[in-house]
Amino acid sequence: TIYARSIRKAFGSKPVLKDIDVDIASGEVCCIIGPSGSGKSTLLRCLNGLETVDSGVLKVNGEHFGYDETPAAYHAVSRKRLAEQRTRIGMVFQQFNLFPNMTAQENIMAGPVLVKGADKRQAATQAQELLASVGLRGFGDCYPAQLSGGQQQRVAIARSLAMDPQIMLFDEPTSALDPEKVGEVLAVMQDLARKGMTMVVVTHEMNFAREVSDSLLFMDDGCVVERGDAREVLGNPQEGRTQAFLEKVL
Ligand code: ATP
Ligand code: MG
Repeated sequence: TIYARSIRKAFGSKPVLKDIDVDIASGEVCCIIGPSGSGKSTLLRCLNGLETVDSGVLKVNGEHFGYDETPAAYHAVSRKRLAEQRTRIGMVFQQFNLFPNMTAQENIMAGPVLVKGADKRQAATQAQELLASVGLRGFGDCYPAQLSGGQQQRVAIARSLAMDPQIMLFDEPTSALDPEKVGEVLAVMQDLARKGMTMVVVTHEMNFAREVSDSLLFMDDGCVVERGDAREVLGNPQEGRTQAFLEKVL
């Protein structure tokens, strides 16, 4: 679960997240939509500890995330504890960010072996299972440059899953793909959702949001303008800003 209350984040004097509340239950799939610059990526980066919030409360699975009692005490949390908390949250980016000098299988094994000290042979077996689960059985020896964008992104998803995360965050995972590769990545995500993974997905894929997600957040200018059941928000938006945005993208 993710529980956020009044989280704020500014870059210099520019507020980017203004009193954001988020509730995501275990097994829930939440999509975040909104115009460019509205703070979607910044919110995701706060949720996985790539950025620290300035104030508010952020709890992941009931634990203060990245700080002891208040964000002001961020630095009181040991790096080790934050690193440990972060291993429970996977993140997939628009630009797959695979290690170019490692094969698909090595990319997937790297986290378990280097971060968790996993046994290499076990990690290799797990990597092969994960490759199969994202439809890439037999591609383990390929380097990223030998794979299509859709294949690379599926390896990136498998690499995140190798750390056995409790929550998966996706930041526009299909935006860098050729249109005909989008579906294969969304299918893997849909499969993951069906298996009960807790997911937060920033996306422009409104069909995915409608079909797969339970809840939807519409962000504009650092605020959550509207939230609710995904089909309801998309079908019957209550706020003018949501309506105007959806008219442009639907
Ligand atoms: P997009 O749809 O284009 O990805 P977004 O909703 O993800 O947009 P963010 O990337 O979260 O938006 O950015 C929100 C605002 O914060 C923007 O005005 C951006 O310029 C600013 N911003 C983001 N990261 C930083 C940073 N590291 N330093 C300064 N400003 C930043
Ligand atoms: Mg973004």
